[in-house]
Amino acid sequence: MPPEPVAVLLDGTATAKQIRLELKSEVSALLQEKGIVPHLAAVLIGEDSASQTYVSMKEKACRQVGMTGSIHRLPSTATQAEAEALVRGLNEDPAISGILVQHPLPKHLHEPAVLDCVSPNKDVDGIARMSLGGLINGEPAFPSCTPAGIIELMDRYGIEIEGKHAVVVGRSIILGKPVAMMLLNRNATVTICHSRTHNLGDFTRQADILVAAVGRAELITGDMVKPGAAVLDAGYNRVEGKNHDVGDVHFESALRVAGYITPVPGGVGPMTIAILLRNTFNAARGRVGV
Ligand code: NAP
Repeated sequence: MPPEPVAVLLDGTATAKQIRLELKSEVSALLQEKGIVPHLAAVLIGEDSASQTYVSMKEKACRQVGMTGSIHRLPSTATQAEAEALVRGLNEDPAISGILVQHPLPKHLHEPAVLDCVSPNKDVDGIARMSLGGLINGEPAFPSCTPAGIIELMDRYGIEIEGKHAVVVGRSIILGKPVAMMLLNRNATVTICHSRTHNLGDFTRQADILVAAVGRAELITGDMVKPGAAVLDAGYNRVEGKNHDVGDVHFESALRVAGYITPVPGGVGPMTIAILLRNTFNAARGRVGV
C-alpha cells in the first residue's frame, strides 16, 4: 500500500529563530551605523500571571537580539487616566522605539482608548485603531503581530496567496479581522467565518488557505479541510489530560489531508514575538529615517 500523504509542517519555531538571527545582525548594524539600540516598552497593568509571563518573555527576546526592553507597571486598581498618562509619557520618551500594552487590561479599563494613546509610530503591536485603519487602507503601518506572523510563515514556505481562496475562522480584532485584511491586501479572495456561521465545514472545505483563529480545541477536523490546503492554526487551547496545548484544528486528521499545516505548539505561536521584535526594530529605524 502506498504511504498516506502527509502535509508539510510549517515550522514556526525554526522560522522565528531565523527571523531573530536576521534581526540580530541588523540590530548590530544599526548600532554601529547610527548608535541606536531599539527599545521596547511594555505596559503591564494588573497582576495577571499569564500577562506577566508574556511580558517577561518579550523583554528577554529583546535582549537576545541585542535590543533592550523595559516593563512599566500599574496596579490592577489603576484608573483610566493613570493608564493613559503612562502610555502618553512613553510616547514622549525618545529612547523608546515601540510600546506594547499587554492585554487583557483589567475589566474596568476601556482597552481601545488606552491603545489609542499609543503613538502610531510606536504601535509595534499594531492593534490600536489608527494602525488597524492603516491596514484597511493598505498603508504600511506596523502590522499586528500574530496575523503578520501567519502571513510571514506562508511567505517563507513559498505558499502563494494571490488569487487563492482564504477562509478565516474567527473575527477578533487582534487576529481574525486583521489576518483577513492582510490576506485581502495580498489579493486572496477572503471568507470570514464566526460563531454564527452555519455549516462551517461547507466553507472550510473550499479553502486553499485555512486560518483557524477560534479558541475551540480541535474544532476543525480533517474532513473539513480541502485536500492540499495550507492550514494555519493560531489556536491555543488547554485540554484536560493533555500535557501540551492543542490548536483549533484536529492535527492528526488534518495532517493527512492538508498540503501544509502548522503544529501546535511550534507553529503560529513563536512567530508573534519575532514579528514584534521586527516591528520594534523598524520603529527604531523609522525614527532616524533609515
Ligand atoms: P476570541 O477573541 O475569543 O475570538 C474567537 C473568534 O472565534 C470569534 O470571532 C468567534 O465568533 C469565533 N468562534 C467561536 N466559536 C466558533 C465556532 N464554533 N465556529 C466558528 N467560529 C467561532 O479569540 P482570539 O483572541 O481571536 O484567539 C483565538 C485563538 O487564537 C485562541 O485560542 C487564542 O489563544 C489564540 N491566539 C494565539 C496567539 C498566538 O499564537 N500568539 C495570539 C492571539 C490568540 P464571534 O465573533 O461570533 O463570537
